[in-house]
Amino acid sequence: MDNFDSISLLNIMLINKRKLFSQLVSDCSIPVIVKQTNDEAYGGYYSKRNYPSNCRIEINSLDNIAHDIVSLLHEQVHYRHENENCRCMNRSCRTLAEYHAYKEGLQAAIKLGNKDIIKETILLIQGQAEKNFTNSHRTAAKKVMRLKLWQKALKWLDT
Ligand SMILES: [Zn+2]
Ligand SMILES: [Zn+2]
Repeated sequence: MDNFDSISLLNIMLINKRKLFSQLVSDCSIPVIVKQTNDEAYGGYYSKRNYPSNCRIEINSLDNIAHDIVSLLHEQVHYRHENENCRCMNRSCRTLAEYHAYKEGLQAAIKLGNKDIIKETILLIQGQAEKNFTNSHRTAAKKVMRLKLWQKALKWLDT
């Protein structure tokens, strides 16, 4: 493949990811607000408790469409679990909620079958697990990395 072909292929992949993001946003049953903050550690936000009449997902866009998709998949799990009254919600400890969101976010990425999105999800989970302080995100990320699902995801990086 010559240089031009590889560049246009990359563009097609980028356009497809943008389309996918728009599709995920329009399929979402609550509003998705895309913001840009300078905080790279902030991926997104979902809370019905804090905004009972204004339930929404916020995504911190980092000019990396794979990152934005991964953040959206993660927040959608929180939203779905709250709607389904999952036992992870309405607890003071967030570890189970984050575990569910990382695990199902990874499952969703694998289901989409897009290597960049799977890779971004892996980076997100690894980044949380490598934090040098303990919080619910780190505990949850480490737990996901012990699943068979994690090995399945890592195999995508070799393809
Ligand atoms: Zn849950
Ligand atoms: Zn979360």
